[in-house]
Amino acid sequence: MTLRVIAIDGPAASGKSSTGALVAERLGWAHLDSGALYRAMTLAALDNLGDEGGGKGEGWNPQRIVALAQELPITLALVGREFVPTVAGVDVEEAVRSERVTTRVSAVAALPEVRAWVNAEQQRVVRQHPAGVVVDGRDIGTVVFPDAPLKVFLTATPEERARRRLTQRGQAPDAERVRRESQALAARDDADRERPVAPLKPAADAVLLDTTHVSLEEQVARVVALARARFRG
Ligand code: C5P
Repeated sequence: MTLRVIAIDGPAASGKSSTGALVAERLGWAHLDSGALYRAMTLAALDNLGDEGGGKGEGWNPQRIVALAQELPITLALVGREFVPTVAGVDVEEAVRSERVTTRVSAVAALPEVRAWVNAEQQRVVRQHPAGVVVDGRDIGTVVFPDAPLKVFLTATPEERARRRLTQRGQAPDAERVRRESQALAARDDADRERPVAPLKPAADAVLLDTTHVSLEEQVARVVALARARFRG
């Protein structure tokens, strides 16, 4: 049976989650933002393991983070079409977007034990949702679902991604803010690209989509058209 998964990968703020959510809505599938799960692991570590990580997260013991995820527990709950992360039964979709989580998440996501746990969780929910799931992240097409029939890799210039992120937050995208935000995005992308385990990169069979000059509506329409062709019947 064909695996009903669409993998959307790409760097930070490339529009993966917005695209994934809208594609899922058009197709009647569910949407899973794997970054939210890494963020939930990071939030749980920050709240429960204190500053053991030396302020950056690198010192945290990976086994303790995974044990926390099982004990609290960290889970994914299906709300409408969205799989949202919960920690100890509380929806943390908003809380995981904070600056303190964003600055540490790449260090937590570089830990192989954490990745193994997050991957198993993603594979579990996909098995339980045979109607189809759009999954977005960094390694979905390369590692988590290498057999996904449709893989898309989204890119856009760091400045354009910074502008979109600022606008999303309701902040005016003036030159100084764009400069600072694109530096922060580039630092996270470098960490994600250079890690030894599951680095950020397009799968060999991914469709590359540079969205610098493409509207969200247009991106969604392109992915939906590709999906209709690949998942006929
Ligand atoms: O997508 P988002 O920016 O919320 O992801 C947060 C972080 O989680 C990324 O910077 C990356 O370190 C990690 N991540 C990952 N693999 C994924 C999804 C996210 O390593 N599949």
